[in-house]
Amino acid sequence: MMRQVTFGPSIQGLFAAFAAEGKQLHLVGGAVRDLALGAVEQHLDDLDFTTDARPPETLAILKKHRYRTYEMGIEFGTVGAVLTGPRDAGFPKDVQITTYRSAETYRRGSRHPVVSFGDHIAQDLKRRDFSINSIAIDAAGAFVDPYDGLGDLDRRVLRIVGDPLETLAEDPLRILRIGRFIAKLGFTPDDALERAAWECATHLLDISRERWLQEMNKLLVAPHAADALTFLRRVRVLNLILPEVVALSDLHQRGPAPEDPWRRTLALVEAAGKDRAVSWAALMALTGLPWVRALHGEPYPDGAACAGLTPHPLPAASSAPTFDRHHLMAAELARGLARRFHMDAKTAEAVEFLVLHQRAALDFTPAWTDADVRRLYRDLQGHHAEVIALGACLRATGPAPGVASLDDLHLLRERIRDLDARDELVPRLPKGLGQLLVDRLALPRGPLLGDLMQHLTEAILAGELRSSLEPEDYLAFLERTDPPILQEARAAAAPSRKSGAPPTS
Ligand code: ATP
Ligand code: MG
Repeated sequence: MMRQVTFGPSIQGLFAAFAAEGKQLHLVGGAVRDLALGAVEQHLDDLDFTTDARPPETLAILKKHRYRTYEMGIEFGTVGAVLTGPRDAGFPKDVQITTYRSAETYRRGSRHPVVSFGDHIAQDLKRRDFSINSIAIDAAGAFVDPYDGLGDLDRRVLRIVGDPLETLAEDPLRILRIGRFIAKLGFTPDDALERAAWECATHLLDISRERWLQEMNKLLVAPHAADALTFLRRVRVLNLILPEVVALSDLHQRGPAPEDPWRRTLALVEAAGKDRAVSWAALMALTGLPWVRALHGEPYPDGAACAGLTPHPLPAASSAPTFDRHHLMAAELARGLARRFHMDAKTAEAVEFLVLHQRAALDFTPAWTDADVRRLYRDLQGHHAEVIALGACLRATGPAPGVASLDDLHLLRERIRDLDARDELVPRLPKGLGQLLVDRLALPRGPLLGDLMQHLTEAILAGELRSSLEPEDYLAFLERTDPPILQEARAAAAPSRKSGAPPTS
């Protein structure tokens, strides 16, 4: 494992700026961990520094040395800056510079810490959570490692520097952070930490939902997300934050089910990779199953049994269970999830949409016409890439509805791309067409005009007509094909003009 780091000129320049003003500066946090594990500087994106300078001094130093700064939360001791440097070395990079803290506590449910500043790097490292997060690198590139974080990195262990119970109780979000670092690094918490997490689990309910969300967003897209979710279930944290996912556990043992939807969900989340909305949707995709399960068309009264509250006697399982409309139920639960986690409106909408349309891409076959592809694209309302990705997760991890193979889904992506490149994906009618139709057909303004335009849009979708022709071409198309909607429009035309008389105004 690396014990000495040589920084490039941009980072060295930042160290030099602080040294020139008589202030200490250390690199801390994830970047230190990553460097210790052998990452190279250009792959670090999130650079956290800590200093003995108080926030106004930090700002002054940065300004004096001509760094672009932004204020991130000066009252919490953090100043943001931009490090410039060669593009191929990953610059520009955002850095955050935080004044040494001696302690950091969160008031119940608050998003922001109450901080007290400190004067020593050792003190600052001590208040951090895990030993692997309590390492710093100084201006000379040497590791400062008072708690054997480097040893724990070697052993692949998550260990709390202080007393585990006290440390978790002080900021219960750290329980979720255990999950996040399991997900990211594949490490194992030591026994004392796991025990403490189990003891303190309910304290997570004191924590702001924004902080839950921040950790879960990172956890779900990390490579070992399944191990992390398994850990969170083991220490009863998942019960609190994602009861609808826990309800999938052992479903197949509590009555007929095609497979173990909990295991399948873990596989789905890992298959979802790095896309945040797809990962959340993968987590929620199957959550409708327990609540709609039916046998012989009789509802299988499973609500209470799902939550593990009352055992329900099993009916004789002579036919396969059905899970009619489970995606609708899951979308309902996704809506509740978004509210619980205070997701932003855009993510919330995407997750719900994906859960609801989870099988949409799986109906694709190579025999689909361009018109079929265009209609699917339209129906997916900008979420086609994510819906295809989720479909691929479902296909790759076990039985799934529809017929599309992974290769087919790949082909679907290409067909959408090709249609787009030829400008044949989204129907586009020219400006001025509405006015032309009104004038030439003597149309009253109103729904009829909209219907005619819709008819033309459908014709483009169906491939009978191209986009972006001249307005005259669309009128000619209508006259040539003479659809019922045109006849209706003619019947509604202003009577004075129908007879050919000049318009009166
Ligand atoms: P990543 O690379 O995923 O961002 P990170 O270790 O940088 O990982 P951050 O959440 O960015 O994680 O936090 C930066 C550092 O701040 C951590 O390494 C840790 O030292 C400290 N830290 C952050 N949150 C807490 C917390 N709730 N309790 C104690 N220390 C914390
Ligand atoms: Mg970080």
